[in-house]
Amino acid sequence: MKENELIRHQLFDLDWPMDQDGYVIDTDPEGRKVVRRRGGPLRYYRPLRDHPGLAREFSELREEDYIDFAGRFGLLGASFELGSSADDKEQVAEWFLRSKNIRDLLAAHDKGDQKTAVKIYNKTHHLLRTFVHAEETKKARIVVQPSTLFGAMILQVADELTTGIQFKRCSNCTTWFQHRANKNFCSDQCRYAHNNKRRK
Ligand SMILES: [Zn+2]
Repeated sequence: MKENELIRHQLFDLDWPMDQDGYVIDTDPEGRKVVRRRGGPLRYYRPLRDHPGLAREFSELREEDYIDFAGRFGLLGASFELGSSADDKEQVAEWFLRSKNIRDLLAAHDKGDQKTAVKIYNKTHHLLRTFVHAEETKKARIVVQPSTLFGAMILQVADELTTGIQFKRCSNCTTWFQHRANKNFCSDQCRYAHNNKRRK
């Protein structure tokens, strides 16, 4: 089965931080709306391993959803990619543009318009880093890793564009999961929950 081929074989997952105290919408000194960390302790997670459908979820966000999304997955890493030193806040306008970027890309892909999808993809800017991975028992090898959460999500889209994997939305919650025939739920918990609701 072609399952997250690019991500599985050629990329290293990144550890991405999120503020355990959450995020707020704030105004920066220039008067622009920003998503800002509250400044609590950070917790790290692996977006590519734990949330394969994250790009789809991000693409559907409305502005009122930004705080909830940031609270679960952290900032996008936009300031890192722009070479700015600010890593505790990101402009709301930047979130909007990046979400629309992935939304347009997936809309073209879902329509079967590969030409447009590829054109949008190839214009999308994000950074990758490389490093040498050495385990005691194996030969050292070079690996590639996205630098930011946005980079990880755009690579999830690359996987969809190039390997034919498909995502489907859970019939119980809003999670996108990798499509398999006859499966309508992201997890057993959601299947039970949905069936229980129907029995009532
Ligand atoms: Zn679910």
